[in-house]
Amino acid sequence: MYTEGLLHEHSRLEDEYFYKKDRELIEKIKESEKQKQELLERTAHYHKCSKCGQHMEEKVFDELAFLACNNCDSVHMSLSTLEKIQGNHKGKVFLSEISEAMQAAKALKESA
Ligand SMILES: [Zn+2]
Repeated sequence: MYTEGLLHEHSRLEDEYFYKKDRELIEKIKESEKQKQELLERTAHYHKCSKCGQHMEEKVFDELAFLACNNCDSVHMSLSTLEKIQGNHKGKVFLSEISEAMQAAKALKESA
């Protein structure tokens, strides 16, 4: 049988145990909320121009993919894409094709 002291000790240990479990759960929830916020922040910037904030369109020329802003003519591409352009003898043609396509898209947008 429990004596008064043992009951009190048992209850104190139980309180500590649940307090610790609650703290762990709260920390887990905080961490997952933080991750969710970070993901939302990142996805809000997907395909957005870093210069003007407008949506960027994904384009593919000659198997080279990049993002183009129809508002400010900015282009976003990976370093490996740039290296491919540099190593490609058609690099100048590629760049003029991008420029022409962006000007055409801009003209189309302005006429709409
Ligand atoms: Zn832009």
